[in-house]
Amino acid sequence: MIGNMMFQPLLISSLIEHAAQYHADTAIISKNTDGSMTETTWGQISKNSKRFANVLQSLGLAVSDRVATIAWNNHRHLETWYGISGSGLVCHTINPRLFPEQHKYIVNDANDKVLIFDKTFLNLVLSIKDSIPYVEEYICLDAYDEDIQRAFPEVLFYDDLIALQSDVFEWPDLDESKASSLCYTSGTTGNPKGVLYSHRSTVLHSYAASLPDSFHFSAQDRIMPVVPMFHVNAWGTPYSAAMVGCSMVLPGPMLDGASLVELIDRYKVTNALGVPTIWQGLLNAAYQSGSKLQSLVRNIVGGAACPPSMLQAFKDDFQCETVHAWGMTETSPLGVVNQLKAKHSELDESQQLRLRYAQGRPPYGVSLRICHDEKCTVESVRDGQIPGHLQIKGHWIVESYFDQFEHSLTEDGWFDTGDIATLDEDGFMQICDRSKDLIKSGGEWISSVELENIAIAHPELELVAVIAASHAKWDERPILIAKKAAASSVSEADVLAFYHNKIAKWQIPDRVIFVDAIPVGGTGKILKKDLREMYGSVLLEELPA
Ligand code: AMP
Repeated sequence: MIGNMMFQPLLISSLIEHAAQYHADTAIISKNTDGSMTETTWGQISKNSKRFANVLQSLGLAVSDRVATIAWNNHRHLETWYGISGSGLVCHTINPRLFPEQHKYIVNDANDKVLIFDKTFLNLVLSIKDSIPYVEEYICLDAYDEDIQRAFPEVLFYDDLIALQSDVFEWPDLDESKASSLCYTSGTTGNPKGVLYSHRSTVLHSYAASLPDSFHFSAQDRIMPVVPMFHVNAWGTPYSAAMVGCSMVLPGPMLDGASLVELIDRYKVTNALGVPTIWQGLLNAAYQSGSKLQSLVRNIVGGAACPPSMLQAFKDDFQCETVHAWGMTETSPLGVVNQLKAKHSELDESQQLRLRYAQGRPPYGVSLRICHDEKCTVESVRDGQIPGHLQIKGHWIVESYFDQFEHSLTEDGWFDTGDIATLDEDGFMQICDRSKDLIKSGGEWISSVELENIAIAHPELELVAVIAASHAKWDERPILIAKKAAASSVSEADVLAFYHNKIAKWQIPDRVIFVDAIPVGGTGKILKKDLREMYGSVLLEELPA
């Protein structure tokens, strides 16, 4: 017997429709590429997304055609997202920080028909234009600009295009399993691979991400996704925000600490999301300016391990609850979020804080397991102790990569994340490392994340990374690459002494190498592969002849 309830497909258009119906006057505050601010509302975003859907229709695109965006987090970008996916096309967000060869590769691989870009990326687009023959239309996400028109005669301007269109558009009644958006993985090895999300996976992810035990969004919030819309759809926040009807601050191109502090204080942001390097910059800027980040109730940290000292700093100095989360492009991205359970209120504050260091536990819709090997011939016990290969399954987890017909799962249907982690009985998962970043010293594993967490708590270090360096006797030994804080005269011996009594002696790095800058990739994560190329043989070079 089938249940007697209505069936409505889970569509991205229903999110913007909900926001327009019930939260039309809620503010969307956006920083433009020139630094000026625009204040608009969900009502206006909805109208412009319909105008843009009419523009796309006039271009004669077919259902599921790809429309690419290279843009910052701003209101026009948000309008295009809903216009594209809502009308049955696929929104392909491109990370501007990739290399030109990767840009050409992914635009061609995705077979993008339209390329939408922020003014800032004019030169990027001009530099790849002759190598992306399938793109038929280019749209500059701004008002008419004479200089841009001269440099790029065939370009169309977003504001002109939507001004000519009606704000009436009937969102099509799509199959909920149709593709809605496309993101490429960072591609630290080999070519980037496309992950193609569906309307259904996106809406279900939005429900899960908004829950109190996840990002904790409500209609009373003003959230600021610092994580870019080209990094796993800003962790889905533009969709969750429409679902709950909260206000948003879209920070545009200026992601330095001082600019973010200014936005939080001026617009009373309650909840912000970003990678640890962003938060490190923000903390430094807040200390410098004396801001207390008064409105900020919580911040979500993910994309790379959140150092325990960061949790402590936000709590002690800003009364802000830092929530650690983990995910991947392949997982939409929400995999786990660290929110405690009722029973944990019996623990004292330091024990609670210790629990919060872990990446967190899965929301409904995601299952995790830890295995001895990638094929999972043996599943590990959930004891929170023994690390293994982290595997995941769920409603918003990838099955196969874009245009690859073979699925990317284990024989019994799980996705191997490439991360090494522990899992306990309550579902709390703690990442030990990326499998390729673990350090194997004399047959024993050392977690680079653990060594980094200790080093970053040193007050005179600004940014750190631990990598494996080849070693004649031990195969690999950890070395610490560190950027000093301004005006610091800390020495290698001081930093190594800082490790004493915090970790077993044999795990302490062999060397500390001070550098002026640590390479950071397109999504703000440290490029360990580059560091390994640069410093991976320093211990061999130092051996006596
Ligand atoms: P990406 O698909 O580029 O977002 O990268 C996903 C990878 O980032 C994961 O497989 C992890 O290795 C890493 N990652 C994401 N969040 C965290 C976190 N909270 N702690 C440690 N590593 C993380």
